[in-house]
Amino acid sequence: MNDLNQARNHVLEQIQQACLTANRDVSQVQLLAVSKTHSSEMLNAMYATGQRAFGENYLQEALDKIEALSDLEIDWHFIGHVQRNKTKHLAEKFAWVHGVDRLIIAERLSNQREATQAPLNICLQVNIDAQDTKDGCQPEEVADLVAQISQLPNLKLRGLMVIPAPNNPQAFLDAKTLFENVKPQHAHPEDWDTLSMGMSGDMSEAITAGSTMVRVGTALFGSRDYSKSV
Ligand SMILES: *Cc1c(COP(=O)(O)O)cnc(C)c1O
Repeated sequence: MNDLNQARNHVLEQIQQACLTANRDVSQVQLLAVSKTHSSEMLNAMYATGQRAFGENYLQEALDKIEALSDLEIDWHFIGHVQRNKTKHLAEKFAWVHGVDRLIIAERLSNQREATQAPLNICLQVNIDAQDTKDGCQPEEVADLVAQISQLPNLKLRGLMVIPAPNNPQAFLDAKTLFENVKPQHAHPEDWDTLSMGMSGDMSEAITAGSTMVRVGTALFGSRDYSKSV
């Protein structure tokens, strides 16, 4: 068994254990492999272990990999900050965009997604623990954004994405509560099924709180070397 296989199995075991402890079905938690800074060759090797969902943060780097790996059946997730003038590539090339935090971004993605493509899956990014950052909408904005974005064509509004500061499990519980509370605002509530939270260092706490998608980089690929970023 190679290193990537071993690392992935170890992460899958952690997910399984967290589900067991939380009395949740393991099929409710998806593993997103966060592959930023890693080469197409590395992604190819991870794909060979059975991994299909990959998350990228930097648009140009991601587009290069999407091109290089176009023969593979990868679900590409964009988990980085969404810039208003970069939405066209996101709308055309990705299956999911997790970092939507304004109506105008969602409108642009909806307009730029081809009607012939499957709807673009969207998570609303929320600044759940009042961090000093421009990323993510405020919790009190979420209900209105869900009502508005869930009506746009060519999009499927799936849920929330949060990146709380480390060692703050309460933030995951707050995200879960918000996720449940705003569901009635959704124009198609059956689409509202995703809580994207938890990374290498806190996936178990996130799963305990109700995460349905953990975004894991370091625990799968090892540490990142940004100086060699592709
Ligand atoms: C890089 C990144 C991750 C993965 O973090 P690890 O600690 O390496 O698992 C998850 N989510 C987002 C939004 C990221 O930018």
